[in-house]
Amino acid sequence: MEVTNRYITIKTSIDGAPKESDFEIKVAVLPLKVEPGTNTIIVKNLYVSIDPYQVNRIKSFSSSQTAINFTAGVTPGTAFDAYGVGKVVVSGNPEFEEGDLVVGFITWGDYTVVEPGVMLRKCDSMGLPLSYQVGILGFSGLTAYVGLFDICKPKKGEKMFVSAASGSVGNLVGQYAKLFGCYVVGSTGSNKKVALLKEKLGFDDAFNYKEETDLKATLKRYFPDGIDIYFDNVGAKMQEAEVANMKTFGRVVVCSLISEYTDAGKRAAMDMLDVVYKRIKIQGFLTPDHMSMYQDFLQKTYDHLHAGEIQVLEDISSRVENIPSAFIGLFRGDNIGKKIVQIAEE
Ligand code: NAP
Repeated sequence: MEVTNRYITIKTSIDGAPKESDFEIKVAVLPLKVEPGTNTIIVKNLYVSIDPYQVNRIKSFSSSQTAINFTAGVTPGTAFDAYGVGKVVVSGNPEFEEGDLVVGFITWGDYTVVEPGVMLRKCDSMGLPLSYQVGILGFSGLTAYVGLFDICKPKKGEKMFVSAASGSVGNLVGQYAKLFGCYVVGSTGSNKKVALLKEKLGFDDAFNYKEETDLKATLKRYFPDGIDIYFDNVGAKMQEAEVANMKTFGRVVVCSLISEYTDAGKRAAMDMLDVVYKRIKIQGFLTPDHMSMYQDFLQKTYDHLHAGEIQVLEDISSRVENIPSAFIGLFRGDNIGKKIVQIAEE
């Protein structure tokens, strides 16, 4: 038996903001069989994660491409690998059987041929929607948890600021920090998102950064006594304003710099005298370095979900052909919460 496999690829390297015309859908015939003894499996993709970091993989150069395997460059014309959930349809690997649900690195396509060595495991949905595996119980949730608890190391009552706070990582950082006992303010790109943060997710306050003309003054308004912790998802001017409002011995965790991903000209020029005299600690991190926290993260998040203490924000589109627009939308702030594309019904 054979199937038609459609998958997304890029025509050429892309430096700057991606456009739909930079992508194409390739169509290939995929025989549903594997050679015995190869340990290869074929997965029918169900949900795929849409993540900003993919933009660094399609540039002609980015330091991300040599950092870790997950963020290696994507060669034009080849399939993108991405985190997701699927169902095994053919298995040449004794660890997997036809019908098993799996989570790990699949492709932005209908099917994935998974060779040995690729990070993929059987998926236990724990009675929760399968899509949660891609967001709150996947790398977004783990990133929020690791960044907050392993890097920021908050103390109860500390004042925290989160940028891109209605996004997949940001909303969870804010929710974990509130549950822990911090005072949390978030920035986001629309008044509708501001209302969501305050009314549904329990942030102490939030503002629309697109309506602010002087970010240093804005942060002074929300934190008259200064900020203990900044969870940075955006970089650039927000990072400069934030460092200017930091308390002595404050911590900045740099999760991402999305506003610089597509425009290096926006690179932050923070006042390094502030960094020295306020003894500010600034640390970047990559979640895959912290997999030892996975079980702890999973148990705590599962407990919060069962207790109804944490809200799940998902933004799900469907079909392979809509992956490029879903991806491009991340850089326009189209998404609210975790952006996912459902490829097929469970
Ligand atoms: P996301 O926040 O769900 O989506 C991106 C959001 O960023 C958009 O919704 C938009 O929201 C905001 N944004 C886009 N362009 C912007 C700009 N120029 N200025 C300010 N805000 C802008 O994405 P995510 O999956 O949760 O990831 C958040 C960040 O964490 C990403 O940049 C990602 O690369 C990073 N990340 C890092 C690690 C790690 O290991 N360090 C792991 C996972 C993710 P609004 O404009 O409406 O606020």
